[in-house]
Amino acid sequence: MCLAGWVYQALVGWITFIFVKALITVGFAMLLAAMARLMLGQAKCRNRGVAILNAGLAALIAIGATHYYAYVWGTDEYAASAEVQAESPGMTGSNVRTSNGPWRYMQGRAEIGWQIDGDKSPITGFAVWAIWVIEAGIILVAVQAGASSLTGNPYCEACDNWADFRMLKLKVTNAEMGSIELICMATSLDDVLGIAKNYTANKDNTFVYAMTCCHQCSNAAHLTVKTETITRDSRGTENTKTTTLLNNIVLDAGNVEQVKMFAHRFNATVAAPVMNA
Ligand SMILES: [Zn+2]
Repeated sequence: MCLAGWVYQALVGWITFIFVKALITVGFAMLLAAMARLMLGQAKCRNRGVAILNAGLAALIAIGATHYYAYVWGTDEYAASAEVQAESPGMTGSNVRTSNGPWRYMQGRAEIGWQIDGDKSPITGFAVWAIWVIEAGIILVAVQAGASSLTGNPYCEACDNWADFRMLKLKVTNAEMGSIELICMATSLDDVLGIAKNYTANKDNTFVYAMTCCHQCSNAAHLTVKTETITRDSRGTENTKTTTLLNNIVLDAGNVEQVKMFAHRFNATVAAPVMNA
């Protein structure tokens, strides 16, 4: 997290265009979210509260790191400037830092502000703090969202493992648009799987059925149903929009057999995990 903060601050310090900076902030937030997910996944964290707390702390460390490196580099640059060297030769960044802490540096930085894209009046004071708060907010929200989405993933408590073995991924094309509402309102697995029996017409609509289970014991099976809709603009360029209709519904052994029968109707094979003795 600190290393990511270092790279991030190096990039935003180097690039002056605010739009590009904003893009980098979003990219940085997404990178941290992916890192938080990876770490929490390794730690097998299934508790949403714990995940959010840990991810929040990690995000705060990263945000702190970006400001710390801005402080160190800013004071180094200041000490090395011609004006300062003329007044007090041999002045170094660490001399500046002994008399000015990071907090005072940030206050000074906010007073001076930023010159944006050659504009006449720089952004100063409150606006600078507001940008820092927005920047921190984007990072915190992204990391929290990444962490909390992980905890909803299927898990096999018996084997103490994520249940992410892919048993089946079946795409049913030509599905009816009206089927989407039917799947969303389904009260039984029969409803969910029954839809595709009568499929007709729309070749731009695809249903994607994905079933996962535990790597070791093939229990903890879950089904996710998504729809992919192709739209075309006036030039005929195709865009595919994916919507999750049902996310990780829990399947018992009987349900798994139902899904297998369903898959066989479409000549899809259902993989079985390699069991460990
Ligand atoms: Zn298991």
